[in-house]
Amino acid sequence: MAVDCINYWGHVGNAGYGLDYEPKTQKTVLAHRKTYSDFNGEIPLGAVIKHTCDNKRCVNPLHLQAGTQSENVKESYARGLQINARRSMTEQQVISIYQAGGSQRAISKQFNTTQTVVKNIKLGRTYRDITKGGVCGS
Ligand SMILES: [Zn+2]
Repeated sequence: MAVDCINYWGHVGNAGYGLDYEPKTQKTVLAHRKTYSDFNGEIPLGAVIKHTCDNKRCVNPLHLQAGTQSENVKESYARGLQINARRSMTEQQVISIYQAGGSQRAISKQFNTTQTVVKNIKLGRTYRDITKGGVCGS
């Protein structure tokens, strides 16, 4: 597919993803997720939005694809993307958890992890290098 990437023009968080503001929920959201849902409707619970182009800033709806966490992880490994082996989560998962709404219990189920992991990410006790400064106000 020979369609060029569209790099997000707004704020880009530390993790390298474009960050957008969703007025409906008054939350900062990942720009590529917002773009995907704007074009394709609501993202299924627990689904991740993947870049087929591996360009985190890209918000071209043609380069975005919904998938499951495990698919995404497998594909990332397959493509040889850098994932810190000492950590159990990918950057994308950490960001998804950090930005997920709802109770920690519900989030932990959704991401197939423990409530403690969710709590620590939310409180910035773990993966702080990924989440800190990753969310801007409005
Ligand atoms: Zn792209």
